[in-house]
Amino acid sequence: MTERRWHDIEPADAMDIDLSTDLTITAPLNEAGERCPWPWEPQQLAGAPMGQYHCPYCGAMVMAGLPHIDYARRWRDIAPFDLPRAAALLKDGYTPASVITALTGGDMAFLARTNRNDQRVLFVDDAEELRATLDQLAALYADDPEPFKVYRVNGNERIQFRYGVTVFVRLKRRR
Ligand SMILES: [Zn+2]
Repeated sequence: MTERRWHDIEPADAMDIDLSTDLTITAPLNEAGERCPWPWEPQQLAGAPMGQYHCPYCGAMVMAGLPHIDYARRWRDIAPFDLPRAAALLKDGYTPASVITALTGGDMAFLARTNRNDQRVLFVDDAEELRATLDQLAALYADDPEPFKVYRVNGNERIQFRYGVTVFVRLKRRR
């Protein structure tokens, strides 16, 4: 089963492609975990005096002149010494996508809080990583004075804090 990767396709060859419906091609995810329908614009804006801007197709914060950012970047891309910091930011209600992007890119301007549970989802690649990530997070909160509960229900893995913040761990959406 072969899957085409969106960044292997040139913008000129992508004119008729809609990644929100064509699931045979990979797509970068925005901060809410949604596939970008047409992620080829940012890379075409090299030299434009824009810097960061919102992708008009999915709303993700992207950089003019660089490939569309994929907010599904994995938890394991964060350096080990930054994991306690990442866990603390998740507990404070920052979205996992923004925490990962901020810590892996070294730019805290990407941090974003949310009141919506559907935006507090940490996407991982497979079931093994899902278990490992949940265990890692639980361990990072082990000495935390704030009471919490770890749910290990298949497909509904989450860590819940008493004051209302919940961090979910989910498998990345596949085609
Ligand atoms: Zn986009």
